[in-house]
Amino acid sequence: MNAFTFARAVDVKDALQAVHGRPGAKFLGGGTNLVDLMKEGVERPEHLVDVNRLPLAAIEESHGGLRIGALARNSDVAEHPLVKQRYPLLSQALLSGASPQLRNMATVGGNLMQRTRCYYFYDTCVPCNKRHPGSGCAALNGFNRIHAILGASDACVAVHPSDMCVALLALDATVEVQGAEGTRQVPVAGFHRLPGEVPEQDTTLAPEELITAVLLPAPAFAAHSHYIKVRDRASYAFALVSVAAGLEMKDQKITRARVALGGVAHKPWSVPEANDLLNGSTPGDQVYTSVANALLADAKPLRFNAFKVELVRHAIIRALTIAVEGTQAA
Ligand code: SF4
Repeated sequence: MNAFTFARAVDVKDALQAVHGRPGAKFLGGGTNLVDLMKEGVERPEHLVDVNRLPLAAIEESHGGLRIGALARNSDVAEHPLVKQRYPLLSQALLSGASPQLRNMATVGGNLMQRTRCYYFYDTCVPCNKRHPGSGCAALNGFNRIHAILGASDACVAVHPSDMCVALLALDATVEVQGAEGTRQVPVAGFHRLPGEVPEQDTTLAPEELITAVLLPAPAFAAHSHYIKVRDRASYAFALVSVAAGLEMKDQKITRARVALGGVAHKPWSVPEANDLLNGSTPGDQVYTSVANALLADAKPLRFNAFKVELVRHAIIRALTIAVEGTQAA
């Protein structure tokens, strides 16, 4: 691990000042990903700013929806009565991630910022454009079983590892960030980015900006939602593929829908046309298959991950089938 300096911020202003003019500085929340990366020499921040004492852990009603502070722990969000009752999709996704111990430490802000689990990213002996821009991508012609089937580039074929962010995309959540210029709100759909030529940038967060909250709009899909995570073992594993499905229904028809995919791209994946296919439809395999086709229209599997295309196709149909039947308790 590299040598670094350490500061503890007491409020947002203090935290922003602590990183101002220091491109090598990083905020430290739960540390469940950053500290691992530092131990491996993948992340080498010159300055760490501990933000755990900032008053950003509240989960409260706001503008008809919910405001979740960036320092709320994943376990507290998953078990919060308002989340379980109004946004069970989010609770289900969070509880499918990591382990209870990690969920007790990991924060909402950190979950948004967590980095890919591409094994070549963690191996400092091999080329990786995300870790070392311009060095190449060992996964492109390597063992790319866990990698992207959608939205990848020749520079990087990594996937985003979060479960929470897939549910947030289906729920049309917004990320509130604060920087020297003030506060701005970024839809989750625009928060993470595809790799393109700059895979070292995971998000659209500007330098020196701090995530302060996640904002959920008025409750939707509480009665008809489901999160499916397919992984190599039953717990404590990242998704090979995942699907978040949220539906509103009336008179046996779907009136509004959101479907988001995880484990398939550098960001949680959705396609507006797929949601449109469901709006006003009569539930059934025919429309579910059309939705899967729309979501996977641009799929380009790599040498070792073609199985993901069929896997996620079945997961989409299964998630929609269960969502129509009614939300299952997390
Ligand atoms: Fe690095 Fe991305 Fe290639 Fe993995 S897929 S080795 S993270 S550049």
